[in-house]
Amino acid sequence: MLLFKKVDHLKSFLSKERKNGKSIGFSPTMGALHQGHVSLVKRSIEETDISICSIFVNPTQFDDKKDLQKYPRTTGEDIDLLESIGTDIVFLPDVEEIYPNGQDAPHGFDFGAMANHMEGAHRDGHFDGMAQVVKRLLEIVEPDFIYMGQKDYQQQALVKVMLQQMDTNCELVRCDIIREPDGLAMSSRNVRLNEEDRKTAGKISETLRLAKEEAKSHSLQSVKENALKRLDIPQFTVDYFEIINAFTLQPISEFEEAESVVACTTVRIGGIRLLDNMILK
Ligand code: AMP
Repeated sequence: MLLFKKVDHLKSFLSKERKNGKSIGFSPTMGALHQGHVSLVKRSIEETDISICSIFVNPTQFDDKKDLQKYPRTTGEDIDLLESIGTDIVFLPDVEEIYPNGQDAPHGFDFGAMANHMEGAHRDGHFDGMAQVVKRLLEIVEPDFIYMGQKDYQQQALVKVMLQQMDTNCELVRCDIIREPDGLAMSSRNVRLNEEDRKTAGKISETLRLAKEEAKSHSLQSVKENALKRLDIPQFTVDYFEIINAFTLQPISEFEEAESVVACTTVRIGGIRLLDNMILK
């Protein structure tokens, strides 16, 4: 496995490989890697000639500076894990490499109403920071495929829009959510949960599973009401539980309004934000 820290070195290495006809698969991450991340990189290893995983905790997508400070950083273990699964390249840039001209440059994408709800409504500037860093990373890596998790449903839908608006042939590969045995979606933030909160956190995916069951026979309003009742647990603060059109990301009021429907939720437990979602139909 090769490790790059400098943009120029990585770019010149990749441009040679591209000239040799090699396909490039890219999995951007913020590190503290778990089996969810591993699933993206493994898929890239299977499907492309050169698999790159970046580890960069992007300061511009954190509206809460405490969350940024407390974000787990386990670079040594991450490198070992990536090497053990056969990753070709790990890219570990520092903030100056990614933002040589400062952190304020506008990303220039038009997300319409897709970025307004859910994470967009609860994390000020989050998607601007996300778009900024993904754009920069795409310009550096110029991958043929970018591997992203369904876990961040809204994020990967916005990246799809970015790819349409950029001059690129890069394709988005959406990867399934990898879960713990009790159903909790794997997340770098899970390690910050205390023992009791960790046990209760399983209720998030259970609620989504039951919503999927109920969606077969109940109205959307009653599915949503039941889900909110199940999430009404003293340790939980529910930022949102939305049932949305899978393509436009807009909340709907009846299942018949959309061909494909997703339930998305974010719950805070002990100050830790946990995202999850499930495709209902
Ligand atoms: P992050 O390090 O949280 O920025 O995530 C990097 C990538 O890994 C994103 O595309 C996430 O959607 C994906 N990812 C995070 N958690 C999971 C999971 N449990 N299952 C599948 N993909 C995930």
